[in-house]
Amino acid sequence: MTRFAIGVDLGGTNLRIAAVDSNGKLLEKTTTSTAVSRGRNLVIDEMCAVIQQTVTKFRSGGELAGIGIGVPGIIEMQTGMVRESPNLPDWRDYPVRDEIERRLRTTVVLENDANAAALGEKWLGAAAAVNDMCMLTLGTGVGGGIVLNGSVWHGMTGMAGELGHINVDPNGPACNCSSRGCLEQLASATAIKRMAVEAIATGKAPELARAMHEDPEFSSKVVHQMATQGDEPAKEIFRRVGDALGVALADLVNIFNLPMYVVGGGVASAWDAFAPAMMERVRKNSFVYRATAPTENAPGVQGSNVPDEALPARRTTIITRALLGSDAGLVGAARLPMIAGKITSPKAELKRA
Ligand SMILES: [Zn+2]
Repeated sequence: MTRFAIGVDLGGTNLRIAAVDSNGKLLEKTTTSTAVSRGRNLVIDEMCAVIQQTVTKFRSGGELAGIGIGVPGIIEMQTGMVRESPNLPDWRDYPVRDEIERRLRTTVVLENDANAAALGEKWLGAAAAVNDMCMLTLGTGVGGGIVLNGSVWHGMTGMAGELGHINVDPNGPACNCSSRGCLEQLASATAIKRMAVEAIATGKAPELARAMHEDPEFSSKVVHQMATQGDEPAKEIFRRVGDALGVALADLVNIFNLPMYVVGGGVASAWDAFAPAMMERVRKNSFVYRATAPTENAPGVQGSNVPDEALPARRTTIITRALLGSDAGLVGAARLPMIAGKITSPKAELKRA
């Protein structure tokens, strides 16, 4: 009998739920109409109802391993609580894991949504061929996840991997975390829009100004379209994004010497616009990268999934695009209960003691 698990993504606008079997086959994906912003109780009610329907549907075909939930915020693994989440203010210090375990009578694992995305890309995406990887998720903010030996690296309490707050420019724009010039302030969708507004204010970006005037939904996507069409101020914004990513990635390469670094999230669709500046900066700043850089046109350099046998004999550092899009967090969340026994969490240690 196969096993399956339920993955939940609270990271987006709407609640998303998927059933995935232990071979990584996506059995079902549901996007509910429940806006995550409508409050904790409503979201938990809806989540439990959809999970129950889904479990009933697939129970005859396999055994339920449990439920994994990706949450946009800082998770405390020991208590299964959300310690801090700007998007989910009323979830703070609420016993999410215990409450859902009580209602559904199965194992529930909470995880930061960027960690879940990293685990998804490691399991079924760009990093399927390696055991160790880290991922940057470029969205409204910048998330990060570190996967070592196939499991998320949690640090002491579950808060490790906040790669969006790597300092890139100590005198840069103020960040919500109270630091300045964090990667998130220089490489997120929010940052791209802000840089476009700043460029327009100088009077030297007439095309961007026209686009913003014409489009009430003016966003990083529009800036990317204009960069693709050759608008120089828009191209310059993506060069700055790439440079900031390169500074952070060079540090990560120097610290970890991992075989793979994956860049995902909505902004990663602008890969062609920022990757040249990013790779130039990584090469300049990281001697570990230079010592392990793939040769030109080596497999996997630009976004393909590299099977083990195709990896060159000389182990190389690969920096590449994510493959799973917005499903990374969902399948990664489903992976959590499947490998829960492998995770050395403070809770597991307490249970063993
Ligand atoms: Zn910060």
